[in-house]
Amino acid sequence: RVRPLTCTETRRGDKQIVHSLGDGAVHVSAARHDATFGFSAVFDAGASQEAVFEGSGMRQLVELAIDGFSCTVFAFGQTGSGKTYTLMGPLAQSETHPASPALLGLMQRSFTCLLEHSRSRSSDLLLSASYLEIYNEQVRDLLSPGPPCALPLRWSKTRGFYVENQLRVEFESLEAVVSLLLQGSQRRRTSAHALNRHSSRSHALLTIHIRSRAVSAHPASGEGWGAQGSAWGCKHPTVGSACPSKQGTLCFVDLAGSERVKETGSSRELSVEANSINRSLLALGHCISLLAKPRGKRTHIPYRDSKLTRLLAHSLGGSGITLMVACISPSSRCLSETLSTLNYASHARRVTTRP
Ligand code: ADP
Ligand code: MG
Repeated sequence: RVRPLTCTETRRGDKQIVHSLGDGAVHVSAARHDATFGFSAVFDAGASQEAVFEGSGMRQLVELAIDGFSCTVFAFGQTGSGKTYTLMGPLAQSETHPASPALLGLMQRSFTCLLEHSRSRSSDLLLSASYLEIYNEQVRDLLSPGPPCALPLRWSKTRGFYVENQLRVEFESLEAVVSLLLQGSQRRRTSAHALNRHSSRSHALLTIHIRSRAVSAHPASGEGWGAQGSAWGCKHPTVGSACPSKQGTLCFVDLAGSERVKETGSSRELSVEANSINRSLLALGHCISLLAKPRGKRTHIPYRDSKLTRLLAHSLGGSGITLMVACISPSSRCLSETLSTLNYASHARRVTTRP
């Protein structure tokens, strides 16, 4: 997704060097670089939030999550390239000043789609959310009350990598889940620097857990539901257990942006943050380029190199279904970051998982 030039960029006369050619092709033209890249879809500056939701496959991803798949959507790219905007819309929103509905991002649109399904289909969904950030290589819970504390990241044979003691909050309405999103986002570590006034200094992962079961027409005696199932039994006393349950997840990942320290005018504390952001993005890039090799030629994938790659191991190379949104600025000043994002995205495109 190519964002529009910002006012600052226009004022200082930056040239627009990125153009969509249609049919998933995007062209970068600068003095010594002239390159075309191909993707499943390209959205240029004029694309609305709705067009991105409908054209990126996000709706299908929500439906697959309801069907029990583990789905992930990533936004990545340089700081200020529009990652948070794409996922959540403009940041000025709060509960008292909600953003215009037309500007809502992939997350709110997915929640709406999910809750519509939950109401309309003959299946019932039990929904809960967890929200984590990775800040300076620490995993922190954005939903638990009190100051954020670090949670341990563990591995087990059955679950893979998982975060211990993370809070899961159940919700039944759009308002409830949007309010969880806002609460968590406000606790997220951000700081102002030259490139972006509300720059995210952490990677954030919001996961929606979806437990679904088709409602059977013939009530049967209930069994096979765990601790959570009994709560369901109360809500739907006539529903039997003939249909198996499905458990899917829908995870939204807002990566902190890559950046060069000198460009952002970072202080010492900020440069520690920038180094851990850059290190984890490097680890992510490394895993992706190894995963992009043909299966026979693959070596060990170093997921353990960072917390980010551990948490995303399943989405990247496991049995998940993943949508990656590469965000870029059209400005001539961002040329090298733009080329690097597009190269990274081209690698990512070659990765296959086994859903
Ligand atoms: P990032 O999360 O990648 O650091 P942001 O999403 O915060 O970047 O975007 C940086 C700025 O650009 C914000 O002011 C945002 O509102 C604006 N912006 C980003 N993408 C778009 C877009 N597609 N249309 C309009 N404004 C955008
Ligand atoms: Mg951001």
